[in-house]
Amino acid sequence: MPPKEVTPGLALDSFSCPHCGAFADQHWFRTFVRSYQRDDNPSVVTKDDFTKAKFDGMDDEKEKKAFLDFFKRFTKNEVTYSVVPYGETCNWELVNAYISLCHSCDAFAIWIKDSLVWPAKEYQIEPHEDMPPDVKEDFIEAATIIDHSPRGAAALVRLAIQKLMVDLGEKGKNINEDIASLVEKGLESLRRRVSTRCSKICPKARLRL
Ligand SMILES: [Zn+2]
Repeated sequence: MPPKEVTPGLALDSFSCPHCGAFADQHWFRTFVRSYQRDDNPSVVTKDDFTKAKFDGMDDEKEKKAFLDFFKRFTKNEVTYSVVPYGETCNWELVNAYISLCHSCDAFAIWIKDSLVWPAKEYQIEPHEDMPPDVKEDFIEAATIIDHSPRGAAALVRLAIQKLMVDLGEKGKNINEDIASLVEKGLESLRRRVSTRCSKICPKARLRL
C-alpha cells in the first residue's frame, strides 16, 4: 500500500511533512516575541559560527554539552532552537502565527493564519527543452513564485508568452492580436498547447488566453 498522503493543515495532529514527506505526528507551538537589546540585531547563523576555538574556550561542561547539542540540531535543520537556560521574559504573543514540529525529521514549519508559509512549496514544472532562453527564464521564475504569488506568476507567464510570440514571428506587443494572427495562420493547435501549458503552470491564477 502506498504511504498515506495528508496535506498539511493548521492544528492537524499529523500530516505529510513538507520537509521529509513522511506522514508524521506534529507538535504545535505558540510564538512569543522579544525585541533585541539596543546595538543587537538579527543575523544569519551559519556553520562558521561553531568554531573549535569557541568550544575549547568554554569551561563549563554543561555549556559545552549545550553547544554540541545545538550544533547537532543545527546540522540537521538550520531552523532550530537554542536553549536559554534561565528563560526570557516575553509578554508579546503573536496571534495567527504558529509553528509545527515534525516528529519524523525534527524540522519546524512556520504558519501564518492557516497557511503554511515555510518551507515553501516547490513546483516541479520543467520548461520544454525547445523553449527560447529568455522565455525559459520567465517560465522558471513563474514556477518558483506561484505558491506565494499566483498573480505574479500569471504576469510572468503572460510576459513569457509575449516573448514567445516574437520568437514565432509575431509583433509581441499585444498578446491577443498575436495569438489571433497565429490562429489565422492555422496554428490553432499551438494556441491550445500554449493555453494548456499555462493553465498547468498557473491553475491558481486562472490565466485565460
Ligand atoms: Zn518531517
